Amino acid sequence: MNRRDTPPEDLTEEDAGAELAALAEEIAAADIAYHQNDAPDLTDAEYDALRRRNTAIEALFPSLKRADSPSGATPGAAPAAGFAKSRHGTPMLSLDNAFAPEDFAEFAKSVRRFLKLGEEEVLRFVGEPKIDGLSVNLTYENGVFVRGATRGDGTVGEDITRNLETLDDLPRRLPAPFPGHIEIRGEVFMTKADFLAFHAEQTRLHEEREQRRERGEKVGPDIRIPANPRNAAAGSLRQLDPEVTARRPLKFFAYAQGASSTPVAETHWDYLEQLRAWGFQVNPLSRLLPDEHAAEAFQAELAGQRAGLDYDIDGVVYKLDRLDWQKRLGFVGRTPRWAIAWKFPAEQATTVLLRIEIQVGRTGALTPRAVMQPVNVGGVMVQHATLHNEDEIARKDVRIGDTVVLQRAGDVIPQIVSVVLEKRPATSEAWRPLTHCPACGSHAVRPEGEVVRRCTGGLICPAQTVERLKHFVSRNALDIEGLGEENIIALHNAEIVKSPADIFRLAPHVETIRQWEGWGKGSKKDSRKIANLLAAIESRREPPLERFIFALGIRRIGAQNAKLLARHYHDVAEWRAKMLAATTIGSEAREELGSIQGIGPAIATELAEFFAEHRNREALDDLLSEVTPLPAERIGGSGSPFAGKVVVFTGTLEQTSRDEAEAVAERLGAKVTKSVSKKTDFVVVGADAGSKAKKAAELGVRTLTEAEWRQMAAQG
Ligand SMILES: [Zn+2]
Repeated sequence: MNRRDTPPEDLTEEDAGAELAALAEEIAAADIAYHQNDAPDLTDAEYDALRRRNTAIEALFPSLKRADSPSGATPGAAPAAGFAKSRHGTPMLSLDNAFAPEDFAEFAKSVRRFLKLGEEEVLRFVGEPKIDGLSVNLTYENGVFVRGATRGDGTVGEDITRNLETLDDLPRRLPAPFPGHIEIRGEVFMTKADFLAFHAEQTRLHEEREQRRERGEKVGPDIRIPANPRNAAAGSLRQLDPEVTARRPLKFFAYAQGASSTPVAETHWDYLEQLRAWGFQVNPLSRLLPDEHAAEAFQAELAGQRAGLDYDIDGVVYKLDRLDWQKRLGFVGRTPRWAIAWKFPAEQATTVLLRIEIQVGRTGALTPRAVMQPVNVGGVMVQHATLHNEDEIARKDVRIGDTVVLQRAGDVIPQIVSVVLEKRPATSEAWRPLTHCPACGSHAVRPEGEVVRRCTGGLICPAQTVERLKHFVSRNALDIEGLGEENIIALHNAEIVKSPADIFRLAPHVETIRQWEGWGKGSKKDSRKIANLLAAIESRREPPLERFIFALGIRRIGAQNAKLLARHYHDVAEWRAKMLAATTIGSEAREELGSIQGIGPAIATELAEFFAEHRNREALDDLLSEVTPLPAERIGGSGSPFAGKVVVFTGTLEQTSRDEAEAVAERLGAKVTKSVSKKTDFVVVGADAGSKAKKAAELGVRTLTEAEWRQMAAQG
């Protein structure tokens, strides 16, 4: 960002050109994030600063102004990278809003004024429920669907033809007669029920990804959890892979026309009829109103039905029925003079917050949830609201006993908007985060820089047991065959297996298990199943140390870190003792742990927190009474001069990278650390070595040149 501190007048032409290119890209990305995603990356101030900088540079270097310059583009959603642009035949509309009967009356009056209509003329409107989804423009050539695009900035959208082709509600061919060329518009949306199921599935995938990430395993791209059906529909349609879109439950209602080579109807109502005849879904609640005064009753009627609909609506769109009048009225910019969106008031209600419940997720995440006196919000009884996290509770200063304002807007899940401070009880106290897990009583900690508080009792916390057990027996951990999720849940529910150690104590329960469906009650095959499982478990009583450490499921200790720990500490007793000692901050053991190449202080803290919880230690010792982990192999054998030695690399190596040299040393059985101490056996000194070489000399630690290191390494 230093570059940005240079005043524009001091920039060279070359720098100015490069910066304009970078700004165009950044501003476009921010526009997309703002208009098309749910999470803007920049604050308004940062965004404005970028645009100002762009304008200032363009003013000084007019010849460098780019074709895609942000200053020349309409602010709004430019097409995202990955999709071709698609220009609409006629612009897609943006409607004016009405919020009250007076607003609508004023709108109707302005229509009359413009058309110079007398009182005797009847104004008929078509009222259509306004669905909060994603507007799209469909192009048909000779009756065949050829192209589909998002609304974009109203003039140019993204070509999402292949994604739209996956929708069941979209006719690929129109039955004749049809205009040679026609654009048909409508809304793609997700029903509430489909959204809730999709939301739950995305949340689960997100949690699983987080778990894998914490264990240091490779993870795919981030899993987005949509906030509302609109975001879910938009995200689903804007997938680069149409296969993904095809799996999403998307619906489509047609409601408007774009360009057309020949007129289709004389009224909007007849046009909707034609859409139905062509096979489109048209919202069945749409209605032709006999005159402008019928709008208010229709608005109230739909407001009453709103909560019971299986999709979200946020108002009603009223369109003048006569198309010749629509044409005369025309547009102001992209806003038609012949239509208006009459919005419903936000669904709000006040109630009393009874308590804040903490839910423990399967990965140990503690999530606060508000429990309130049940209240009717827009026709739905609401008792719970999400509070997201501790910071949000603090920011809103939500307290138990408070009267709170609840809202269901576009979001299906209700939110606490604000606190009615005048009604706050005099005795109320600020809410304090729990220090212990409500499910198991272990310490709950919130790592620095993270928003989520977590239970540290991974091995014993009932909320996490199933996940932990699944991990414990998984392929890279103890690899016990025959213990899938279903079986773990069954054994857990029967209270036979509550902790990993219990897996090794199944034998006394065999008679009980044999009574279960599919476990030997009937067939011979089933009874072999139990025998096979017991044999698989027995064969795992002596796991390699690295698998054992990994199997414990300590946060951030993935297979790779478990291997580093196993190599460094060699056997389980040593490891356990050192981890206990490392719970003391500043101890020698803690320093040693943090200085292991690839571990570092943050991971050392996670390990220390795990061992600081006495319940974890008890569960670990219980487990060690059943299994005996094998000491880690020293791959280099005792033949290498580095086997079992502590080695430090410093300075720049000429022949290999430092990373590679360290890996070689570890293969030879060395412990590689970052800092030099009395315990260091060798310091390999490369070019431009600094304080570590000096310290080695002071402590009398043997130093090696790169050449000497290579020679000695070759021996082993
Ligand atoms: Zn817990």
